[in-house]
Amino acid sequence: MKLMMKTVQHRIGGVETSGDSVRTAPVWDPATGEQQASVLLAETTDVDAAVQAGREAFQIWRTSSLTRRARVMFSFRNLVVEHARELAGIVSKEHGKVVADALGEVARGIEVIEFACGIAQLLKGEYSDQVSTDVDLFSFRQPLGVCAGITPFNFPAMVPMWMHPVAIACGNAFVLKPSERDPSASNFIAELYAEAGLPDGVFNVVHGDKVAVDAILEHPAVAAVSFVGSTPIARYVFERGTAHGKRVQALGGAKNHAVVMPDADLDFAADNITAAAYGSAGERCMAISAVVAVGAAADPLMERLKQKASALKVGPGSDETSDMGPVVTAAARDRLIGYIARGTASGAKLVVDGRDCAVEGHAGGFYVGPTIFDEVSPDLEIYTHEMFGPILVVLRVASLDDAIVLINNNLYGNGTAIFTSNGHTARRFQREIEVGMVGINVPIPVPLAFYSFGGWKSSLFGDHHVHGPEGVKFYTRGKVVTSRWPDSAAVSASGISMQFPTSV
Ligand code: NAD
Repeated sequence: MKLMMKTVQHRIGGVETSGDSVRTAPVWDPATGEQQASVLLAETTDVDAAVQAGREAFQIWRTSSLTRRARVMFSFRNLVVEHARELAGIVSKEHGKVVADALGEVARGIEVIEFACGIAQLLKGEYSDQVSTDVDLFSFRQPLGVCAGITPFNFPAMVPMWMHPVAIACGNAFVLKPSERDPSASNFIAELYAEAGLPDGVFNVVHGDKVAVDAILEHPAVAAVSFVGSTPIARYVFERGTAHGKRVQALGGAKNHAVVMPDADLDFAADNITAAAYGSAGERCMAISAVVAVGAAADPLMERLKQKASALKVGPGSDETSDMGPVVTAAARDRLIGYIARGTASGAKLVVDGRDCAVEGHAGGFYVGPTIFDEVSPDLEIYTHEMFGPILVVLRVASLDDAIVLINNNLYGNGTAIFTSNGHTARRFQREIEVGMVGINVPIPVPLAFYSFGGWKSSLFGDHHVHGPEGVKFYTRGKVVTSRWPDSAAVSASGISMQFPTSV
């Protein structure tokens, strides 16, 4: 008997529903290349239903005490910890990354929930006593209403968790539109929120494509939009969302450089660069995709990178012995193979070729092996484009000055790293580089949740980075109150003053 294929539903007002959706998209198993489910693609009316559910829930949730909100977050945090393996399994099955890596993204998401548990402290306002005679002045922050998140495929658990715990702890309702390529983690999270005691409608999930995104960007009751994805879509979301009067933070793509100085520990640098380039098959916004080898570092570094990349084991994410899983779709695999072919044709030196990557028993899977190009010139497509896969390009330069100029001229400014044993070199780099997140002998400098995450240049549109203090600011607005409680005898004696009020 043929089993019915699962269809991933929306989750609106605490209920799984198909709403008005009739269109679907396939959800692949990247390890085998077979379709494992379908996901609904929302119509405008489905987005409207989710926003309305959020609006109603917001009226209650905004009045809930800080203690209650913190307790819901503590319960949610404990449930995510308890179910971390299950969640990582769901992520691995639809995304393709190895389970250990999926567990890592769940752990980084939990850090944001833990940050949000401290909401009472984070929302403390300011108070100035007696700013004028008998007058006090104070400020506090209030939630915005319904906030929305639009997220990419590469971190289906962690990236939404950069957003919703902070937004919800601040007193907002939230509508999440996750990637249609790996949608199931978001429904699982919705179940955990419900179990944690979050009222129905505070957290809603709508699956979909451009139709759903446009409906969010144009809905008059959506107050703020957090987006993470590729740069062209980030720019579009920022421009269209702000044109409709919304507060928008839109994080885009990346080309993250690792500079390797001749004084660096080259074994340490090569190990770290290999992990950062090929972990999650290079499908990380903070993956190292370009190495800048300075002077005499180049030859010995290349030897090491070549040897380490060739030793990685590619296989299904569910196999504990795999270092690296497949890429997300057949289209992604074909796009990457096209980049390798064109890079070779354009004169870059292909030293490790991942094109014919066969995985036994998984002939249909979307596999691309670790790939390295050496002596890449900065005008080549394989350098200027974000390829988003396990392809590392190496550029050789003569000095730190050249490395800094190269990176500062790049379109993107998400993350970067330098490997050196010289403190002065490191300090110069951290001050002069035009990139939002910098690692010193740390290849993937993702800040902890109590700092904020975000890039510069075409890696972020908007003023606020995500989570941390900037996340709290993004999901709230400030109010300042000037207060006087006159005694009734004094009021009758004060009379009318037409002068602009000044402090006395
Ligand atoms: P993507 O831009 O294709 O999709 C992101 C979201 O936008 C998805 O929810 C998708 O449904 C939606 N979308 C896609 N096309 C759209 C369109 N034409 N109109 C409206 N909405 C559309 O990104 P992706 O392939 O899912 O994710 C990979 C990208 O995300 C990479 O560029 C990566 O660098 C970036 N990323 C950046 C960060 C960061 O922090 N800066 C983090 C993770 C991923």
